[in-house]
Amino acid sequence: MKQKYMQTHLEKEIRQRAKRDFFYICVIALILSCISLMTEVDLFERLYLFSRQHEHWEMDEITLIVLWFGLGGVFYASRRMQDLRALIHEVSDKAFFDQVSQLPNRVYSLECLTQMLHRAERLGCQVAVIFIDLDNFKMVNDTYGHAKGDLLLQVFGERLRHSIRKSDIVGRLGGDEYLVLLELASEDELAPILERIKSIQEESYRLDANDLSLRFSAGVAIYPYDGDTATDLLKASDIAMYHSKVTRRGQIELYTPTMAEKLYARYQLESELKTALKNKTFNMEYQPQLSLESEQIVGYEALIRWKLKGKQIPTTQLIQIAEDTGHTEEIGLWALYQALEDAQSFLQADQQLGVNISPRHFWMSDFVYQIQRALSTYEFPPHQLVIELTESALTNDIYDDVREKVTALRSLGISVAIDDFGVGYSCLGRLKDLPINCLKIDQVFTHALVNSERDRYMISTLITMAKHLNFLIMAEGVESKEQLELLHHLGCHMAQGYYIGKPTSLKKLVEQMASPSGL
Ligand code: C2E
Ligand code: MG
Ligand code: MG
Repeated sequence: MKQKYMQTHLEKEIRQRAKRDFFYICVIALILSCISLMTEVDLFERLYLFSRQHEHWEMDEITLIVLWFGLGGVFYASRRMQDLRALIHEVSDKAFFDQVSQLPNRVYSLECLTQMLHRAERLGCQVAVIFIDLDNFKMVNDTYGHAKGDLLLQVFGERLRHSIRKSDIVGRLGGDEYLVLLELASEDELAPILERIKSIQEESYRLDANDLSLRFSAGVAIYPYDGDTATDLLKASDIAMYHSKVTRRGQIELYTPTMAEKLYARYQLESELKTALKNKTFNMEYQPQLSLESEQIVGYEALIRWKLKGKQIPTTQLIQIAEDTGHTEEIGLWALYQALEDAQSFLQADQQLGVNISPRHFWMSDFVYQIQRALSTYEFPPHQLVIELTESALTNDIYDDVREKVTALRSLGISVAIDDFGVGYSCLGRLKDLPINCLKIDQVFTHALVNSERDRYMISTLITMAKHLNFLIMAEGVESKEQLELLHHLGCHMAQGYYIGKPTSLKKLVEQMASPSGL
């Protein structure tokens, strides 16, 4: 069902013009009637006499013909009016409503906003503008096709509309962007509505027998504080949305003026990233991994680094920007090739090389082929490669792809580790179904290990579970001897962290190995 239709400026003008015309016609007709009454014009008598005197002119027939044509004309005009109305209806439907979601489109949403602002100015109330952008929607289109993507947009729009009040407006700005407009008598009305909108993310969508979850980023701007025109409020809510996208996904952010500065800095970083991608100005560092049993270095994790104007950009930030700008696959493949090439100079035959792969790679249909191709480029033995996959890859949306591709990787002899285990949302049931080799326990547990009995208990349980399921367990972020000894005592297989060795550039690593005390 369509939303309540608000008249546009033009429609209002047309209706006013019709009323004005009707009024003037009535006044003129009244004046003419009065004049006729006062002058007592004998129009009909004269016409009658005239037709009697000129009987041979066939006046009766002529009058009838004129009458028929007149009636026909009225009928024709009323039919054309109906057509015109239907046409106007169709044109305004296409011009003002989005054809996929049946929600007001950008033009009409902004028109509604302008009218709401005029009313709010008159009544002294507030208007909240909520800008919503779906996260990773492109992946849905790429994986399930555009028809399914459209269906999802439509269902999402419906859910959004059901989460707000009848008097509020939801529009689709285009792509995966929606706008919600709320008239607020007081600011207290905002929080419960935002909560309801946020909770839509907990509902899943059924697509091709898969349960898909859809998350979004959203920003709010409020009239009169953040702007007093539709354009300004839209811009402010867009900035707040973008802030939510890059900092706290899934949250609805309220606009603050400092957001614009941060956004500008972020835009700059994004454009620098594009240049860096073109010139391949990244490099890799390698962090050793220790076997607690043999006390030997059994592998290295490859970690990407990006130095911009002499300053190191945090890797998590680089990965996040790459994901937001759709460059993850490109950067990931570069890192894989570079790591395999570098490994020729330091990796020994009994050591493994861990390469981080973003969950996004699992959407690539030729992902396994790409890995195979990289391996054969450097004639790198598959059993020496470990693909590190973050726990978030085990969530509903891509789980089937992940399982299929992990199985394919394993059949090629490549090892697979689940990275940062324990801080994501993965379900233990999925672990037993996945043919993985290793669980890397997130560093938060390692750091808490010494002081927290609960964390010790948890790691010890994880180790027992892993042994039963035939996984290896590696603790990340080991920073002290005490932590290392405790992990050894608990039966952990491997460890990685600053205490064992910091991530090191290829040059330094080769130098260290060449030195008599080598690693
Ligand atoms: P990760 O895969 O869990 O990598 C371990 C992170 O912990 C690295 O951070 C490493 O420098 C840091 N670390 C290692 N030992 C310690 C320690 O003892 N204490 C502390 N506090 N930190 C330690 P880094 O290099 O900033 O990387 C962050 C994340 O970025 C990685 O987490 C990984 O998820 C991602 N990443 C890094 N390189 C790549 C890459 O080439 N491709 C992809 N897709 N992701 C990457
Ligand atoms: Mg890792
Ligand atoms: Mg990790």
